[in-house]
Amino acid sequence: MISRRMQKMVAANSVIRAMFEEGLKLAKEYGRENVYDFSLGNPNVPAPEALKKAAIKILQEEDPVKVHGYMPNAGFPTVREKIALSINKRFATDFSASNIIMTVGAAGGLNIALKALLNPGDEVITFAPFFGEYKNYVANFDGELVVVPPNTETFQPDLSAFRELIRPQTKAVIINSPNNPTGVVYSEETIKRLSAILEDKQKEFATSIYLISDEPYRELVYGGATVPYLTKYYRNTLVGYSYSKSLSIPGERLGYVVVPSEVDDFEQLFQAMTVANRILGFVNSPSLMQLAVAECLEEKTDIAYYDRNRETLYLGLTKLGFSCVKPEGAFYLFMKTPIEDDSAFSQAAKKFNILVVPGSAFGCPGFVRIAYCVAYETIVNSLPKFAELAKLYEL
Ligand code: PLP
Repeated sequence: MISRRMQKMVAANSVIRAMFEEGLKLAKEYGRENVYDFSLGNPNVPAPEALKKAAIKILQEEDPVKVHGYMPNAGFPTVREKIALSINKRFATDFSASNIIMTVGAAGGLNIALKALLNPGDEVITFAPFFGEYKNYVANFDGELVVVPPNTETFQPDLSAFRELIRPQTKAVIINSPNNPTGVVYSEETIKRLSAILEDKQKEFATSIYLISDEPYRELVYGGATVPYLTKYYRNTLVGYSYSKSLSIPGERLGYVVVPSEVDDFEQLFQAMTVANRILGFVNSPSLMQLAVAECLEEKTDIAYYDRNRETLYLGLTKLGFSCVKPEGAFYLFMKTPIEDDSAFSQAAKKFNILVVPGSAFGCPGFVRIAYCVAYETIVNSLPKFAELAKLYEL
């Protein structure tokens, strides 16, 4: 018999993954070109050619014992140093290899941070809508996820509600900007106010509250939007980054966490996260990818590709009468459903071979997430189907 904990987690298995499986089934039945699968954030822009070249060169020229062997659990020191310097150059920070832990994607980074920080019953606050896996990650370490209700006008965090929810047992706050699922970028004003609230509450309760900035979409912004670098606003900040989206390598599982030297209990925390990397079974992040990505830190994905998708989808849907906040980042559009029941709406969309994920999966019912990291043709060809869907609801 599997554990009671896993029975619950299996029962609540990811809606996104279920939709993705559904998409594969529909594609078999109707042909791939007739299915408009917007369910998964799997980048369709290929990884940069430079990454392939770097990986091949490493395989051909480097010592295989080094390339395929174990290394320190925090990752290759040379790779961590290069990443630290690249962050310093871009954000005027002052990090070194001793502030970087290489992780198995953003997911691995969040899990090692939570493993290092949480005692049973500790609370972690996040803002709806949020990446649904946060709930599982916090539950992995017997913590409680506390969700700040969404501000559905702008999708900037509701900071008054946030202030009320911080308690002595609040150990961490996870924020994600550019945001999955809304595509909204949290403004500098928001970050300043959020930081001030955290400073106040740390003083009031004489605790350390760590702000975990989950940033797999940092590089994916449009129209000149800027994403503040959070370590500059709040001292107890950890930054979780991933190359899954910025280099289109989600299957390779590579990211890092920045642990600034000035965070409370830095030495202990860095060590605890490094040990967590090992004992959660990751041991270290993939070695070949660490070495290859370190040669490609200046590489960028094709933002113009996603931007064209974003404009076409946003314009197409709003013309049909659907309403949504125009995304400034990531590759998701969060659309208000014309009926309250977002699951029923997603089911109705499926009848037109359109696959979207109900907002309830992100703690925000009444919306659906449309992942536009797909072929441009999929967007264009889906619009007549969305038009038929709109007609159902007399938009
Ligand atoms: N955090 C957010 C907000 C995400 O959207 C995702 C993946 O979609 C992750 C974390 C996990 O990313 P990774 O594939 O790097 O583990």
